[in-house]
Amino acid sequence: MTKIAVFRQPRSYVHCNGDGCLLCKLGYKTDDIFLMPIFDLIDHKVVILSVRKANSSPKALRPQLMAALKAPKSLIEINRIDNINYTVSTRPLSENLKSDPDKINAFVDAYNNETIDISEVYPRMTDEFLSTLSTIQKRMAAKGITS
Ligand SMILES: [Zn+2]
Repeated sequence: MTKIAVFRQPRSYVHCNGDGCLLCKLGYKTDDIFLMPIFDLIDHKVVILSVRKANSSPKALRPQLMAALKAPKSLIEINRIDNINYTVSTRPLSENLKSDPDKINAFVDAYNNETIDISEVYPRMTDEFLSTLSTIQKRMAAKGITS
């Protein structure tokens, strides 16, 4: 699991830019997000599952997923109800649903060789770029921040 800090904007997240980050100065709230590679049996490929740490309501993904991961050798079925609510269930692995060890091994190799960066599921935007966005400019004006 990889843990990154991201900023929540309406319907999107971007990476924090670290020390002196413009978004931090503007008071945007941060969330910790766990990024978990999983094998998607429907799309038949490795995908990155984002799990917000902050949301611990019973219908949130994290508490349900943590419980499901304790089940031995199970298929975990995740259904998204809306942006924050999920249903997570487990059932025995079926012969009909097979993963693809070649795809999984290729992903693991790329991850270990650092030829892929799973945190790239969220965009990185420089402070210079962010300061060109009208919503950011409005916040900067309201807070009296010029750079
Ligand atoms: Zn920041």
